[in-house]
Amino acid sequence: MDPLAHASIGLMAKGVAPKAPLWALVAATQLPDLLSFGFFAVGLEHGAETRLDFEHGLQYVSQPSIPWSHGFFMCVVWSLLVMAIAFYLSRNRRTSIVIGLMVMSHWLLDFIVYLYVPVLFDNSIWTGLGLITSVPGLVIGIALEIALIVGGIAVYWGRRKASAVHAY
Ligand SMILES: [Zn+2]
Repeated sequence: MDPLAHASIGLMAKGVAPKAPLWALVAATQLPDLLSFGFFAVGLEHGAETRLDFEHGLQYVSQPSIPWSHGFFMCVVWSLLVMAIAFYLSRNRRTSIVIGLMVMSHWLLDFIVYLYVPVLFDNSIWTGLGLITSVPGLVIGIALEIALIVGGIAVYWGRRKASAVHAY
């Protein structure tokens, strides 16, 4: 999914974990994609060749290999690692759990929109609802992204305003 849609989950999560720095929440939502850039660069993973148009939705020409950055198992591992680092730095259980869960939010959104999201490693079971691989699904997917982005900004600013009022 679009980085902005992932980031909007970080904006929404600020309300659940007010002590968590916004940059950390947003960065954690981007982690699987950031990791995949690195893993692509060193040849550990490769992306899928895809075509996207409004007549067919997203079509896969080839399958990706993204188990280290986007596999369910590894996302749980990254999520726990992020949680541990966040706890080490913040000493706050809620803050660290919410920041860690941001990594899983990335997995969940990609699971909804794409096909070929691995469960474990290569040759394991593929998962993914593939929402955007059909035309109606693509339209719903774009609407979902816009709703997330608008919702994320609205929730974040609404809360900032509310906390500003409470401050006086
Ligand atoms: Zn991703």
